[in-house]
Amino acid sequence: MPPRTRYTAALKGGYCPSHVDTRLENGKRVCEICSAYYKRRYRKLVSEGFCCSHPTIPVVPGQARCRECVQIKQLRDQILKQEVVDAYGGKCQCDCGCSESIIGFLTVDHTANNGAEHRKQIGRGIYRWLKTNNYPKDSFTILCYNCNCGRSRRDDKLCPRKIA
Ligand SMILES: [Zn+2]
Ligand SMILES: [Zn+2]
Ligand SMILES: [Zn+2]
Ligand SMILES: [Zn+2]
Repeated sequence: MPPRTRYTAALKGGYCPSHVDTRLENGKRVCEICSAYYKRRYRKLVSEGFCCSHPTIPVVPGQARCRECVQIKQLRDQILKQEVVDAYGGKCQCDCGCSESIIGFLTVDHTANNGAEHRKQIGRGIYRWLKTNNYPKDSFTILCYNCNCGRSRRDDKLCPRKIA
């Protein structure tokens, strides 16, 4: 088998691609040994000021990656955010009729108002989390920053534009 196929097959079967006898814990992509190794390598490179994917290229100050990697990551994040926004209707879902669709103005809203608690559970990767969990519609929606902030400042959670 070509390496790529073997890699995918090991993962699919629930085994570490580098230690094909080691079963993976739920949802993990590498075994404990590999993950400890990657973490060590990552920390060493970052502490020496080199990109974690390009060990010979210096990082952008304050980041763990080189300029190219930072740009690729930003692009990936942007594409991911667009996917999430599209899955939730592609525009601000506020019932004030706002319909803001410029992606830079849009953000995820926890309709159950447990945002802080949920962020603690899943970390900062809310867009990735939503995609992996097949965009749950019962407790999340997309709002623009205006509607989101305006609503969150009121006890009744109504959009100020609706009341104005
Ligand atoms: Zn391994
Ligand atoms: Zn890099
Ligand atoms: Zn809005
Ligand atoms: Zn609104």
